[in-house]
Amino acid sequence: MNYAKRLLLANRAWSQEARARDPGFFERLAQGQQPRVLWIGCSDSRVPAERITNAQPGELFVHRNIANLYTSDDGNTSSVVEYAVHALGVEHIVICGHHHCGGVRAALSQPSDALPVVNRRIAGLRQLAHRHQEALSAIADFEARVDRLVELNVIEQVKLLRESPIVRSAPRPPTVHGWVFGLREGLLTPLTDAEEAPHSCVPAAAIAEG
Ligand SMILES: [Zn+2]
Repeated sequence: MNYAKRLLLANRAWSQEARARDPGFFERLAQGQQPRVLWIGCSDSRVPAERITNAQPGELFVHRNIANLYTSDDGNTSSVVEYAVHALGVEHIVICGHHHCGGVRAALSQPSDALPVVNRRIAGLRQLAHRHQEALSAIADFEARVDRLVELNVIEQVKLLRESPIVRSAPRPPTVHGWVFGLREGLLTPLTDAEEAPHSCVPAAAIAEG
């Protein structure tokens, strides 16, 4: 079976299971969305926002791009932020980076002639790496350096978003959080609000009930 067909079949099974669990589920979804969170993450296939947070359809308004970048001159990302903040009234924006990010690794490597659009897109990341050159070059291991730039990038994107006119002019400005996802353990770690880190493991079911 080809892979696209497998996805369509998996969707049928998912739809059937969701209806069996909750017969009114899709009717409620069709009535509209009231997500409380805008999630800006990386397009990387290993970091699916809803899966890693156990979120249901309708809970997260999601935008993903290479290396989870926000720039005000990028109409795509800006329009998502504008809609989420001014039309949906989200309470939180999460910028989520992840370790082993290919986009960030590319910014620490020679530009590839085969990827001119990606190169333009990550130009800001190269500048960020340049600004933190001293701290980054002190890290001997290349992958550890990539992971550190991933974290610096999240912190930078949070700063840009907090300062952006779109967020500042919101009737109820959302809280902007910076998180990083560790691929090895599958855990999210807050970078900009350390006190938010959960101190113990809580079963997903308990969170859903609470
Ligand atoms: Zn990535």
